Amino acid sequence: MSRVIFSINQCSPVEQRLLRALRAMNWNDNWPAQAGFFLEEMGFGSSQVFAFNSLIETIMQADPGFDLLGPLSPFVSRDELNLLAALGNASRKASNALPDVEDGLPAVLKSLVDTCGTALRRAGLPMKTRATLQNGKALPPMTSKILPFQGESSMRRVKVLALHAPTPRVRRIVLGGYSLKSFAVDLPAQWIKVFLPGPTEQQIGRAFTIRDFDTVKKELTFDIALHEGGPMSDWALRAQVGDELQIAGPRGGFKGVDEKSWLLLACDDTGLPAIAAIVCQLPAHLQVQVFIEVADETERQFLAVQPRVKVRWIYRNGSADQPAETLAEVLRYSPLPVRSGDAWIAAEASTIRAIRTQLLRDRGFELGRVHAAGYWKRGEQDHRDLAAG
Ligand SMILES: Cc1cc2nc3c(=O)[nH]c(=O)nc-3n(C[C@H](O)[C@H](O)[C@H](O)COP(=O)(O)OP(=O)(O)OC[C@H]3O[C@@H](n4cnc5c(N)ncnc54)[C@H](O)[C@@H]3O)c2cc1C
Repeated sequence: MSRVIFSINQCSPVEQRLLRALRAMNWNDNWPAQAGFFLEEMGFGSSQVFAFNSLIETIMQADPGFDLLGPLSPFVSRDELNLLAALGNASRKASNALPDVEDGLPAVLKSLVDTCGTALRRAGLPMKTRATLQNGKALPPMTSKILPFQGESSMRRVKVLALHAPTPRVRRIVLGGYSLKSFAVDLPAQWIKVFLPGPTEQQIGRAFTIRDFDTVKKELTFDIALHEGGPMSDWALRAQVGDELQIAGPRGGFKGVDEKSWLLLACDDTGLPAIAAIVCQLPAHLQVQVFIEVADETERQFLAVQPRVKVRWIYRNGSADQPAETLAEVLRYSPLPVRSGDAWIAAEASTIRAIRTQLLRDRGFELGRVHAAGYWKRGEQDHRDLAAG
């Protein structure tokens, strides 16, 4: 069957921005990581970003032939116009009565379209009124199982074997247990979701990076950066050997870089375990610049680095011979190689936003070569960022 495509100018500016994000979620390379930024720029929170992501994942599983074009395509497909019509209708819907345009959609898809429509309405984004296009493809009933996108399906029960305090504001937790016998780590900086004990619906789960996995003893180590007002941070302060937790994963991780290029690594306390895991696995000849922001000198940790890795510690509270500085400020004035490189950054969401803009706009980094994930967001519990993988 021939593909039917139209000019993107058929879409309103809001539709075009939304479409760019939805397409990015299904595109290759680093595009899924950019989708969250596109949506956040439109005013969506992280849970809404995940609802849109879930919608696209579900559609592509239900109908792999669904015509979602590349993020920067100047065209728009009939399937995409139909999806925009469904989202527009859902955004205008005051009651739960489903409009005609969603007839024939599997129930799981209807509810996702509804959730995303509500998010559009709440964000005050006016969607164009449009009818579904004649001869638009109807999605077949779902045959495949929808995978939970957070990977909670394979929970493992684990026990705390040891606790350490490598610095005043970090608790290092070593986990063990029979369920780790089949656990494997494929990439540096992969992360797990750690769940505190509690009733399933209210269970508190947060993402933490695997700092180390001992493949012989089957012991997993992760670090928690302590802070005010977080259930996981509070747990870390009172944790004891023998405490039981559940974990899910692993996910994400550092997928490597062009070895002829150079690499920028940057993080705050929450990204430090990831960067510690990455630097010790990089090829010796790779030129690497690392920027790490922590509270002060007492938070500095030992990093096993190759000779071509330059590390700059940044103290947000200052130190005897360094003024108070932030990661984004230091990166802005630091000399970096002028040739195109790869960047891997993990820190607070607004810092990530500032650095990402700097790298793309002022430093000439290519979009697909900047991996930048918000590991937490000031004022938001359990912040999630698609870019974390
Ligand atoms: C892929 C990934 C990997 C991560 N790896 C690590 C890791 O290895 N080690 C690690 O410590 N964190 C890591 N994080 C970040 C960690 O998941 C968050 O900091 C998490 O919010 C902490 O949970 P909480 O229950 O303590 O606080 P929440 O309940 O999530 O948040 C409560 C309040 O605390 C604030 N807050 C959250 N984190 C911080 C912080 N670090 N400093 C100051 N304020 C904060 C929030 O803004 C909110 O106001 C990772 C995140 C991701 C997405």
